[in-house]
Amino acid sequence: MTNSPKYIPVIGLEIHAELNTRTKMFCACLNDPDETEPNKHICPVCTGQPGALPVMNQKAIESMLKIGTAIGGEIPAVSKFDRKNYFYPDLPKGYQISQYDIPFVFGGLLAGVKITRVHLEEDTGKLTHGANEAGEKITLVDFNRAGVPLMELVTEPCIKSPEKIGEFARELQLLLRYLGVADADIEKGQMRVEVNLSLGTMEDGELKFGTKVEVKNIASFKMAEAAARYEIERQTKVLEEGEKVVQETRGWDDINKQTVSQRIKETSADYRYFPEPDLPPINIAQFDFNRLKEEMPELPWEKRERLQKEFGLNAEQAGLLTLERPIAAFFEEAVSELKTEEVNDQVRAAQLAYNYLTSDFKGLLIQDGISDPHKSKITAENFADLIVLVEKETINSRAAKDVLAKMYENGGDPREIVKSEGLEQISDPQTLAQAVQKVMEENQDAVEKYKGGNDKLLMFFVGKSMAELKGRANPAALQEVIKELLS
Ligand code: ADP
Ligand code: ZN
Ligand code: MG
Repeated sequence: MTNSPKYIPVIGLEIHAELNTRTKMFCACLNDPDETEPNKHICPVCTGQPGALPVMNQKAIESMLKIGTAIGGEIPAVSKFDRKNYFYPDLPKGYQISQYDIPFVFGGLLAGVKITRVHLEEDTGKLTHGANEAGEKITLVDFNRAGVPLMELVTEPCIKSPEKIGEFARELQLLLRYLGVADADIEKGQMRVEVNLSLGTMEDGELKFGTKVEVKNIASFKMAEAAARYEIERQTKVLEEGEKVVQETRGWDDINKQTVSQRIKETSADYRYFPEPDLPPINIAQFDFNRLKEEMPELPWEKRERLQKEFGLNAEQAGLLTLERPIAAFFEEAVSELKTEEVNDQVRAAQLAYNYLTSDFKGLLIQDGISDPHKSKITAENFADLIVLVEKETINSRAAKDVLAKMYENGGDPREIVKSEGLEQISDPQTLAQAVQKVMEENQDAVEKYKGGNDKLLMFFVGKSMAELKGRANPAALQEVIKELLS
């Protein structure tokens, strides 16, 4: 009885991302996610020593203002930090500095999902559970991560399908990377997704929410979607058996592909929030919004739209280029080199550039583990010249692949490679006919069969004649000639 139409999934997300500032949120310790030596970047502030005083990292706050501006959220005139009190061994102060009632960002919209708020807090340390040499269970604690700036974004419960979770989280990841405020590598724990899910019902034309369950311990976008799918099934079963869904925190068990109960959810009162007495309120007007806006790049959704408008790419092509900024930049540089007078059809040329860049050229880059085409020997200008040769049918696609490979090996002007290798496409009917006639003479049997009605042999003649011309024939012109001579 899964996916009963009676129940409507209601999903809200809480997503954390570590900001990539040089130093931590409230002290001068380095924020280095790649540090492998435990407890190297620690000080009295981030280890909670008595009397140590926090100092706000202005860059982290600027990052929040950029995020808020990008999603069209509202930024309050004055914001503040609050203490969230709880005990856990990875939290040396016994409280986390977070934001309670006045986050840096209220509202906003991303990938069609309404945002509730985005606030700034500090990350905790990292616990490693294991055993010592005597075989006793021990837990080690590393405070390098303690005090690293952490943004938390909360969405409204307006997501209706597991697939939308991945779509939204990927868009947020992309935005954070475009803004340059976070690396947001989910596999490294730099981004963490919590899924809140309940099953709603329609009552008098209105969606009535059910009791929600929060799922933590999710280490990839796929796991987030899988956890949601599992919860939809589990909660449907609970409700159809006439039971009630228990409000609780569950964890995703990726080995058994299920969620497991962790604890009954605390209410916010349990954290005894109060304003952080060691930090003054933050007057937002002190930040230079003109400079922040100048530092804002073109945003992913703006880029997608422009790539479609400016170059005639379709939505999927624009989407793929937007995911890989160095490739998109190279594409734009190359296409801007394709001057109108040089090619017959601008849109066709842009399509060719897109295709050669994202298939053949990218394939060569991947083999060498390079993600940025600028780091290869092919310049955007030379790449554009190659596209001109293809677009004007000076060379055929097979020769183009060879030229591209040569350019990748040694760099250079494709026109010169074509000349020195004699790769110009042959379209001259007489030259083509000579080759076809030779093939016909050598394959009398096939000629008879073709004339007897075996049309499939056409490709046999194309292949043979193409080989005769060392792959340089214009394929369309060659077919024409063959059909004519065999008719
Ligand atoms: P809590 O106080 O339990 O943390 P919040 O109101 O802060 O709950 O919401 C946390 C997240 O849960 C938000 O992303 C919100 O959209 C989502 N959420 C709230 N109520 C529901 C519900 N009934 N079903 C699904 N998600 C919900
Ligand atoms: Zn420190
Ligand atoms: Mg909450």
